[in-house]
Amino acid sequence: MQLAKQPAAHDAHDWPLPFASPRLGRVLAVGLAACAALSWGHGGVSGDTQEDGRAIEFPDTADHVTLVVDLHTHSVFSDGHVWPYIRVAEAVRDGLDALAVTEHLEYQPHRAHLPHPDRNSAFDEARVAAAATDLIVINGSEITRSAPAGHMNAVFVDDANELLPMENRDEAASFPVEEAVAAANRQGAFVFWNHSWSSPATPNLRTKLTEIQRELIASDQLHGIEVVNGGTYSEESHRIALEHGLVLIGTSDVHTTWSTGTTTSLAAAIAP
Ligand SMILES: [Zn+2]
Ligand SMILES: [Zn+2]
Repeated sequence: MQLAKQPAAHDAHDWPLPFASPRLGRVLAVGLAACAALSWGHGGVSGDTQEDGRAIEFPDTADHVTLVVDLHTHSVFSDGHVWPYIRVAEAVRDGLDALAVTEHLEYQPHRAHLPHPDRNSAFDEARVAAAATDLIVINGSEITRSAPAGHMNAVFVDDANELLPMENRDEAASFPVEEAVAAANRQGAFVFWNHSWSSPATPNLRTKLTEIQRELIASDQLHGIEVVNGGTYSEESHRIALEHGLVLIGTSDVHTTWSTGTTTSLAAAIAP
């Protein structure tokens, strides 16, 4: 499933809810429509594995349908510890509406055993696993750099390979981050800044907005910011989101497995 997308422009200030944006809503709406066309896959997750007590429930509003999504997870295709099938099974069990398996493009410690030259592989595996469920699987990647750029997720990409067009993966981190973000935006991706408070440059859970983020925001290439990652919340990131009109994002960033069923997720509302 390739999710078709609309042109880029969005204005977070015109959107009625603080945790959603026209671009995100639009692509999720497209995802819903595309999901209906999915065929049944082999070796997939069955659609009835949701367990009592685990489902994350957000009510719809009067004017909007609420979706529960996790846009930041990992599998063995980067530094996670499970196959994408497990991510899908967890998402179904937790009652998520949409899931992105967002592998680090540049950091892939398992590649000696799992070379996967096609960086869409985790998405391909996940969508096969989810074919018999209602789960929307979104293609995404984590653009991974040291501070000040830090980590950014690009979701709703068409082809993750274009975000890092290098043969030699040992040189991957030297690919200019601006070019990776630009490639994602050319595909109409939604881009958000990950765990901006947890780098050596930003200790004590304080997010520091630097020139690169300011430029990406000004050029409409950075659209959201995590305020919750796993069990951590950043008040500073929340403040920056409100100040700069960025979409508030909460994600699990899960690498291992969930034992408690408390996946932290974004609730996004879309116009019916
Ligand atoms: Zn990781
Ligand atoms: Zn990260």
